[in-house]
Amino acid sequence: MKKNLITLKEINKKNILKIIIRNENISRIDIAKFFKISRPTISAYINELINEGLVEEAGKGSSTPSGGKRATLLKFNSKAGYIISISIGTNLLRFAITDLGTNIIDSIATPTEEWLGPKIIIKKILDSINELIAKTKISRKKIFGIGIKGPGIIDSEKGMIIFFPNLTDWKNINLKEIIESKTGIPVYIDNVCRILAIAEKKFGIAQDIRDFVVVFTGTGIGTGVFIDNKLFSGNKGIAGEVGHIITDFDSDKLCHCGNYGCLETLCSSRALIDNIKEDLRKGEKSSLKENQEFDFNYLADLFKKNDPLVVKHVTENAKLLGIGISNIIKMFSPEIVVIHGKFLAFGEKYLSILREAVSKSTFSKVKNDYNIQFTKLPEEAGLIGTSVFAFEKIFKLDNLNISDEYMVRKDF
Ligand SMILES: [Zn+2]
Repeated sequence: MKKNLITLKEINKKNILKIIIRNENISRIDIAKFFKISRPTISAYINELINEGLVEEAGKGSSTPSGGKRATLLKFNSKAGYIISISIGTNLLRFAITDLGTNIIDSIATPTEEWLGPKIIIKKILDSINELIAKTKISRKKIFGIGIKGPGIIDSEKGMIIFFPNLTDWKNINLKEIIESKTGIPVYIDNVCRILAIAEKKFGIAQDIRDFVVVFTGTGIGTGVFIDNKLFSGNKGIAGEVGHIITDFDSDKLCHCGNYGCLETLCSSRALIDNIKEDLRKGEKSSLKENQEFDFNYLADLFKKNDPLVVKHVTENAKLLGIGISNIIKMFSPEIVVIHGKFLAFGEKYLSILREAVSKSTFSKVKNDYNIQFTKLPEEAGLIGTSVFAFEKIFKLDNLNISDEYMVRKDF
């Protein structure tokens, strides 16, 4: 009997904390009304949360219409703890430590050197975590969690890397278990595209949009999908692997996933570079030289200067990606599609080719006005998004509809 009572208490306290996180500057009376429990009971829970440092008083509210006493307002204390945010990229491992309000305190980065394999890269990750903690002198006890985003197929529930196609030997690795056992800190892992979608929802273009898709295009192609204000993960959390939709049935281009003719083999950054190199070998005219290293910003510059070979291949790339996005639109009917990744370097000219290709391959008999935009988020959005993702997991807010649930309505 006692055990049940404690459980109920814990649930209530967690729910009170959730409502304070979701509604900054809320009074004890508002919370009591929301949960339909007595004010003294609510106050006892809140005093505990204040003693734990998670909640603080934030001044007085306005007086009631009847001239009653001004209520003390409460807010979540984002300085109560910290989150370590990690981005595993094909080129760079990036690390940040943020407070619980996802403000970056400090960050470091180191080359991934993906060919070294998971064992050495995991050691690099653990060393960098220790380096960051030592650098910031933050107590381990105050680190509530570690968030990780990775470039591939991840079972987020289990924290299992199923497959990182562009990193050597990353298959079936329970990264969550490994990092948790070495650090003693809870770890939460998800795919880069889904984390970027969380970032767009929290502080990007999609803040007020219920249904939208983030398309990440670089070495790989993937999506993060929000449906009805909630991140869609599908069974096993691997929804959105659009890069592996087979687009060319007769293709001889082998994908890392083991199939032929995936969208990724046709219009990723790697496909673009391979296609340009092939034409250079055939002697096609361009300012590029066959043995030159292909820097994406340089390619973007040549695209803007109308280099014929670069224009030909970038246009083809945009058209193919447009077909992929058209398929996404038919499937999810998003209000907006937000593009992330390397191809942003090609600018508005690329975007207009992409929009036209989407229009042509979507429904020709209905009004074609699909809202496709480049992200406006800064470079560090991935790390901040990872911190937001971990925060939602730590406080068990992630399975809630982000905007609606635990929002106090004005009429209650
Ligand atoms: Zn594939």
